[in-house]
Amino acid sequence: MTGDIFLCRLFGIPFRLHWSWFLAIFLVSWTLATGFFPQTLPEFSTESEALWGLGFLAALGLFISVLLHELGHAIAARRLGVEVRGIRLFIFGGVAELGSEPNKAGHEIVIAVAGPVVTLLLILLYELGLTLIVMQSSVSWDLSSGILQLQGGSLATVGAAALLFYLGMINTFLLVFNMIPAFPLDGGRVLRGIIWGATNNYLTGTRVAGGIGIAFAYLLFIGGILNALGGNLFGGVWFFFLGMFLQNAAQSSIAYAQLQQLLRGVRVADMMRRDPVTVDAGLTLREVADEYFLRFPYKSYPVIHDGRYVGMLSLRALQEEPRELWHTRLVGDVVANGPILPSVKPNEPVLQAMRKLAESGQSRLAVVDDGTLVGLLCGRDVMDLMEIRAGLAAARVWQERRAA
Ligand SMILES: [Zn+2]
Repeated sequence: MTGDIFLCRLFGIPFRLHWSWFLAIFLVSWTLATGFFPQTLPEFSTESEALWGLGFLAALGLFISVLLHELGHAIAARRLGVEVRGIRLFIFGGVAELGSEPNKAGHEIVIAVAGPVVTLLLILLYELGLTLIVMQSSVSWDLSSGILQLQGGSLATVGAAALLFYLGMINTFLLVFNMIPAFPLDGGRVLRGIIWGATNNYLTGTRVAGGIGIAFAYLLFIGGILNALGGNLFGGVWFFFLGMFLQNAAQSSIAYAQLQQLLRGVRVADMMRRDPVTVDAGLTLREVADEYFLRFPYKSYPVIHDGRYVGMLSLRALQEEPRELWHTRLVGDVVANGPILPSVKPNEPVLQAMRKLAESGQSRLAVVDDGTLVGLLCGRDVMDLMEIRAGLAAARVWQERRAA
C-alpha cells in the first residue's frame, strides 16, 4: 500500500508502518498526557514533561500490544500453510495480511483466535506487573471519585503502575471489541468459520458474518455522528472512518467469496486464448509498432525467441523508448531490460491468476508451460465468464422458484 514504510522482518514476516500510524501515536500520547495521566496521578498533574513521556510510552505500549496480537494471527497462519505477506500498523490498529484465505473452516477459526489469545496473555502480564508494583510499594488506589487515582509513591513507581493499568484496560477493551461477531473483526472471522464448517459453504459463512459486519459499521457511523454532534468531534470522526474501513472490508470479502464461488474449479487453461499473436524478439521497435501495435487492438504482445517465451512487450514500454532508437533497437533487448511481468501456468486456478493480473496492472498475462507460450489470459474474458455464470445462476434460482 502507498504510504507504507518497511521497518524490519519479525520471525521472517515483513513489518510495515503506514504514515497514519505516526498520527495515531501522537493522538494517543496527547489524549493520555492531557487527560488520563494527570487525573490518575494527581500529585504530578503539573509535570507536563513527565506526563507526555508517560503518554508516549503508553501509546508505544499499545501499538506493541497490537503488533503482538497481529503476530499471533500471522504465525498461526504460517503454521497452517497460509502465506503471510506482512503485518501493517496504521491509524486503526494493525492487520496481518494473508496471501490467501484459509482453505478450511477450522484453519480460519484457529487463525482468528490466535490474535485474541495473545492479547489475553498480555492483559494477564500487565495485571501481574501492576499487582507486583502495588504489593511491593506504598502506592494506594483510590476509586472513590469514579476515576482511578494512584498516590503515595515516586513518579517512577506510580507512573509505571498507571502505565500498566492503562495497557491492561485498553487491551481488555480491544479484546472485547475484537470478539464482536462482525466481519472482518476476529469475532466475525470465528463466526464465518463456524457457519462455513457447519454448512460446508464458504459463501454462506462470509455473507452472514459480512452482513453483521456491515450492520455494525452502520452503528459506528451513527455513533460517530452522534459523538461529533455531542462535541467529541475527534472521536466522532475516528468512529466514522473506522466504520467506513470495516464496511469496505466486509463488502469486498463478500464480493471475493462470490467471485470464488463463480470461478470454482476453473483453470487458466479453460479460459486462455490459444494461438495468440506473438512478436519475434529479433524485430526492431519500428517494425513492431507498424506491423503489430498499429494493426491489432492489443496493448501488449508475448515475445518469442527461438520458440521460447521471453516476456511481454507493452505499449508503455515501447512508448518509453526514444523514437530515434526505434529503427535499431530490438524487441528482445527492451523486454530483457524491462520489468519482469508475471506469467501464469495453464493448470493454475483462474482466481489466483486474476489476482496476479490485478497486481500487475496489465490487461492480459502470458500463459507459459515449461518455457513455452501456450496462450494468453485476458481479464476481459474472465469478467465475461463471471457475468454469464452469475446470470445463469440467477436464472436457475428464478426457475426453481417458479417450479416450487
Ligand atoms: Zn485480530
